[in-house]
Amino acid sequence: MSSEDGRRRGLLFVISSPSGAGKTTLSNRLRQNHDDLELSISATTRPPRPGEVDGVDYFFMTEDDFKKHARRDYFYEWAKVHGHRYGTPRTPVLETLATGRDVLLDIDWQGAQQLLLERDSDVVSVFILPPSMRELEMRLRKRAQDSEDVIQSRLTGAWKEITHWAEYHYVLVNEDVDRTAADLESILRAERLSRVRQPWLSDFVRKLNPER
Ligand code: 5GP
Repeated sequence: MSSEDGRRRGLLFVISSPSGAGKTTLSNRLRQNHDDLELSISATTRPPRPGEVDGVDYFFMTEDDFKKHARRDYFYEWAKVHGHRYGTPRTPVLETLATGRDVLLDIDWQGAQQLLLERDSDVVSVFILPPSMRELEMRLRKRAQDSEDVIQSRLTGAWKEITHWAEYHYVLVNEDVDRTAADLESILRAERLSRVRQPWLSDFVRKLNPER
């Protein structure tokens, strides 16, 4: 990238979808190809799933700790999802944006709404739809990390989440993960080239022809 990087304006790349629609795979794929995209690690009161690591997948917190942090305005946004609290720590996001880099956020529709209210022009939001509810259920079961109760409540929650699809800038149906990953990449590339994200351009254009 150009030496103008430091002066570019970072964006908040928000991806939402119901559990099981493939969002985690897609955001991992996106980050593999963009090591300049910083993943926001959320805090949650949900217990860790097997294999999940504190500080990598989430910051796992007790209800009390979470509430304390929320009162101190530690979160940029937070919401209750499937009976647990989830929140985006504010400082890492602001620090990344200040360096002109982009932040990837895997958050639900409530979080997306809150960020849109706070930083409308810096948010690019993408909703990932499953190809069918049946497919979604299969993916949830294949994950086999949650109990039947949890799966049922996630299916109910999934439909609630899906009803918010029209609040997003972009909507992708994840029929084929390679195709969807490529589409996600195209969105990021195009948004990075938008005029408002390149404030250095005015200077650049002025210097193109200093005679005039
Ligand atoms: P899971 O428990 O499957 O990891 O995540 C459940 C849901 O919580 C997902 O839809 C995910 O997008 C959402 N989520 C994860 N972190 C946050 C967060 O920081 N804020 C909000 N609002 N939602 C989150």
